[in-house]
Amino acid sequence: MKPLLGISACLLGQSVRFNGGHCREDFLVKEMAKVVDWFPVCPEAEAGMGVPRETIRLQQREGAVRLIGNDKGEDKTDLIDEVATKRLEEFKTLNLCGYVLKSASPSCGAWRVKLFQENGVSAKNGRGLFAARLMAEMPWLPVEEEGRLYDAALRENFLYRICALAEFRTLQAAGSKVADLCAFHARHKYRLMSHNQTSMRELGRLLAGHDGKSHCNPVLAENYLLRFSQIVDKPPRRSNTTNALSHMAGYLTDHLDSFERQYLADLIDQYRRDMIPLIVPILRIREGARKYKQDYLLQQFVLTGFPDQLKLHNGL
Ligand code: SF4
Repeated sequence: MKPLLGISACLLGQSVRFNGGHCREDFLVKEMAKVVDWFPVCPEAEAGMGVPRETIRLQQREGAVRLIGNDKGEDKTDLIDEVATKRLEEFKTLNLCGYVLKSASPSCGAWRVKLFQENGVSAKNGRGLFAARLMAEMPWLPVEEEGRLYDAALRENFLYRICALAEFRTLQAAGSKVADLCAFHARHKYRLMSHNQTSMRELGRLLAGHDGKSHCNPVLAENYLLRFSQIVDKPPRRSNTTNALSHMAGYLTDHLDSFERQYLADLIDQYRRDMIPLIVPILRIREGARKYKQDYLLQQFVLTGFPDQLKLHNGL
């Protein structure tokens, strides 16, 4: 099953924008749809604001952020809040694994949305009202804006977070034991290491001391997931990824002759110096892990978990 992602409906080509148009993104419709299913939502259309409709803005009023119509000055905050409340309840039952939001929208934009102060001055430091509710109430949910997905590193990390969350939820649905959560942690070890080695160890300690055979306490699982999401929130640094690659290459050392060892070390170093893309050392390590039956390596998400169709490591 593909992971289910929420999305601002206009990005899929639905004509729900204030001007009756859309802002379809081909990458989402043609490429990402190969590996995820979409759940489109247009908060403004659902709030009964009509299509086409007057434009709205984020406005600071008496210490709160409100949504105000630009023509008549009507306050639309409660309308969007009502939609958010209803949809967020639904999202919890749908097992959403991510969300793609439309940038700059006063309802959907996640970052740098224009926010007007009471004196009429504006700055790009607001967050759309619907997006703010979504991100506050589902803090572990991977969220991106459509424009940021053209950045190879952000795109790869977003897909990683989606796949990891989907895997985590499948595990929970199967009534997981603590040992299953430990297995999840082990499978993501080298990806976590490429984000932050210290945080990876701290996260592992969260599971220590629990009986592996006992059923996973939901509080423990949610705490783990929240911390996991915080660690992988931003793309890994090249230096940390190099370190993780070197650790994985260590499993092959005893099986390689001196020429092969040096060749692999050179590939990792060329990646470190940004001379070749990440896919090259990954393929070499994966090939070695298969040839020498290194099961621990083969279960690593970073080697075998990504959807190949999107060629995510070719541009990193
Ligand atoms: S940005 Fe959000 S509110 Fe605006 S048209 Fe797209 S889905 Fe609807």
